[in-house]
Amino acid sequence: MKLGCIADDFTGATDLANNLVRAGMRTVQTIGVPDQSPDGQVPADADVVVVALKSRTVPAADAVAMSLQALHWLQAQGAQQIYFKYCSTFDSTTAGNIGPVTDALLDALHGAGQGFTIACPAFPENGRTVFKGHLFVGDVLLSDSGMRDHPLTPMRDANLVRVMQAQTRRRVGLVPQDVVARGPEAIRARFAALQAEGVGVAIVDAVDNADLMRIGLALAGMPLVTAGSGIAIGLPPNWGVTPGVAADRLPPAQGPRAIVSGSCSLATNAQVQHFRQAGGAALALDPLALAAGRQGVAEALAWAVPRLAQGPVLVYATAEPAAVLAVQAQLGAARAGALVEVTLAAIACGLVQAGVRQLLVAGGETSGAVVQALGVQQMAIGPQIDPGVPWTAVQSPLANGQPLHLALKSGNFGSTDFFSKAFKVLGPAA
Ligand code: ADP
Repeated sequence: MKLGCIADDFTGATDLANNLVRAGMRTVQTIGVPDQSPDGQVPADADVVVVALKSRTVPAADAVAMSLQALHWLQAQGAQQIYFKYCSTFDSTTAGNIGPVTDALLDALHGAGQGFTIACPAFPENGRTVFKGHLFVGDVLLSDSGMRDHPLTPMRDANLVRVMQAQTRRRVGLVPQDVVARGPEAIRARFAALQAEGVGVAIVDAVDNADLMRIGLALAGMPLVTAGSGIAIGLPPNWGVTPGVAADRLPPAQGPRAIVSGSCSLATNAQVQHFRQAGGAALALDPLALAAGRQGVAEALAWAVPRLAQGPVLVYATAEPAAVLAVQAQLGAARAGALVEVTLAAIACGLVQAGVRQLLVAGGETSGAVVQALGVQQMAIGPQIDPGVPWTAVQSPLANGQPLHLALKSGNFGSTDFFSKAFKVLGPAA
């Protein structure tokens, strides 16, 4: 195994796997750390294994323990370099988890307090750029983007040096874009200078793919890389891998189509609205009604299943920030989030049992809940729908031995017509 990856949520893992597949790396994604069972075996010819965790919003100590377990498994498989993947909007609470996990991985690889790594969430193809240490989402600072209202990880500071410094025990420094522009040698020289100053984590600027390629070359041989998925496009050349034979082939897709959405991100709100306006069959879940028992899994399935024959159905809890705040004021953010996740996961399971074989899930946390409920252990990565979102093929005990096509969409990803466009990528409806 060339590269061993630890991703802090499931959509993030597929986003990373998608970039690696496009760059020519044979990539397998596992849900959690594989066990010893035959189902846990990863193909021997994989260049990369991406271990998908659901560690973004758990307490920092739990995120550290899960990440170290993944590290030890990847090391036992012979991974030559470790990649800790987080969101391209650096999603984290004030208590972590990016800093604590980075510290723990560096400690494990280099010794307590030792070692050096980078932190770079840039993904220019998706509008995430880092300049002078500040993260931009499209044309605005992270702190002015929709991320400031995220239900679980509101991001109100775009200065990544400051954000990271609040989370890590190590000193944080910066590799500015003018250094990146000068190429791998200059970047490496800056790494060395920062290390000599006692810096353990360097935020690295990147504004376009050329920057990512230059940074990638400078990372050859670095035991730990921490980044969004963008940096991955620059790493394959270090192993002589170039984009070539399609590494993204999946079995043919068939069967009914459905979408479940628990993402409240701006992009998802627009996608839900677009789907509804185009006449798509859509059912809104109300967390307060769920909590009061006035709405539930059985009612949602009774609504959705008879409609499957007519085309994709959408079940969503997606709501605008004001509505989310109102729900959170009554239920608390954590309880509201967990309630919606559990409900959507149960609905997704019911839909698959009712015959759905092409399932789109919107929301990182939501995807984690759905994939775990479906009992998915591994995902083969297929064609890209939009940057960061590929179709995958999985096995689920609920799918009668048939392949299930699954796409996990991180909240902020995808064009406005994503929900209809996604299924076209798999071919015409059966
Ligand atoms: P994203 O990828 O957009 O961040 P996630 O699924 O990771 O989406 O996070 C969204 C969180 O918001 C989930 O925990 C979800 O259960 C919760 N949520 C979804 N709809 C609502 C709602 N209407 N009110 C409150 N919380 C909600």
